[in-house]
Amino acid sequence: MDLEIVSIGNEVLEGHTVNTNAAFLGRELSRLGYRVARHTVLPDRVDAIEKGLKEAMSRSSLVIATGGLGPTIDDLTTRAVRPLFEEGIELKNEIGTAPGLFYPGLILLPGPPREMERMFLEEALPLILEQFALAEPVRHRKSCGLCLLKEVEVDPFLRDLQKEEPHVEIGIYPSQGSLLLEFSGSKKSDLNKLAQRVKERFPTFYFEESHIALAVQKEFIARKKKLAAAESCTGGAIAAKLTAIPDSSLYFLGSLVVYSNQWKEHFLQVSRSTLDHSGAVSRKAVDEMVKGLFHETEADFAVAVSGIAGPSGGTRDKPVGTICIAIGERGHKTDIGILQAPKDRASAIDWTVQTTLGALWRRLAHQAYTFS
Ligand code: ATP
Ligand code: MG
Repeated sequence: MDLEIVSIGNEVLEGHTVNTNAAFLGRELSRLGYRVARHTVLPDRVDAIEKGLKEAMSRSSLVIATGGLGPTIDDLTTRAVRPLFEEGIELKNEIGTAPGLFYPGLILLPGPPREMERMFLEEALPLILEQFALAEPVRHRKSCGLCLLKEVEVDPFLRDLQKEEPHVEIGIYPSQGSLLLEFSGSKKSDLNKLAQRVKERFPTFYFEESHIALAVQKEFIARKKKLAAAESCTGGAIAAKLTAIPDSSLYFLGSLVVYSNQWKEHFLQVSRSTLDHSGAVSRKAVDEMVKGLFHETEADFAVAVSGIAGPSGGTRDKPVGTICIAIGERGHKTDIGILQAPKDRASAIDWTVQTTLGALWRRLAHQAYTFS
């Protein structure tokens, strides 16, 4: 069954508000097996809303619209819909003011994402499932991750897999330094089989969790090990990534953001001669940062990063994007890499976080060395 999502609001149209409502609805509905055929964004104008909704309803069995339900001057959705219907079923808004409305073939939800999500899940979805029963069997999904690999390194293998299981839909979603693979199909066992094949092909890169930080956390907690970090170029982004997950305190001791040379020296005993001769962005510096962490803390594992995130600060030997990463395990040789990250600052930081976590995960879960 086809359905459409219509977002109403000038702020969405003009790019001031990112259309997370459509993303949420698209994700939830397609996960259930509904085919989301189109997303539309309409301005806050009665004629445009009426016309846009009519068109959508003529194309699709169900239209879900968000925004413009409130009582303020710019909220025109109910006025636009009034000529189209007698009356609808009111949907409760537990956390906001504007109620939603359920008409035959059209559902109106409020614009604020938290209100919209709650109303959709609690009020609208039960009615949708009842009135628009899915003809096709539910599609199952299985996702898995591959750290540190690029699409081109994995794609040929996925093409072979696709031949083995032509009915399974395979998606590959890259994000700085990790890949998320998603399989969807009507038979759960097919999906598990494919994930298993990926695991066998890339055993030390594979993880089950939705992202690498979660894989790292689970592994640390399972092994009862502790982690400490020292961050220069990432400025705490590694810590932020790890601590965004509940229960990170069970394994993560903390991160020292040693941004300046003085702090590298003062807090982690990185030697003056290393900083003078090799520089803060060097294998030696990150190696000493790891040693400093082991000296200062009871961590079992320690990671250190230092790099030139740019846009300035690059040299011929060490251009912008040069990043040093060290992954240490107490009592073992430290895994140290000098690498090239993307050249823009935000991507370089993100890439460094992902690469560090990927290498840490391989070291922790598989005793693998990534860089050396
Ligand atoms: P309210 O009673 O809060 O005004 P409403 O249904 O009238 O509810 P809008 O006025 O259209 O909602 O939007 C309120 C706020 O909700 C917007 O300022 C914006 O922050 C957010 N919002 C609206 N539409 C979207 C959307 N498609 N995606 C994400 N956020 C949205
Ligand atoms: Mg409003």
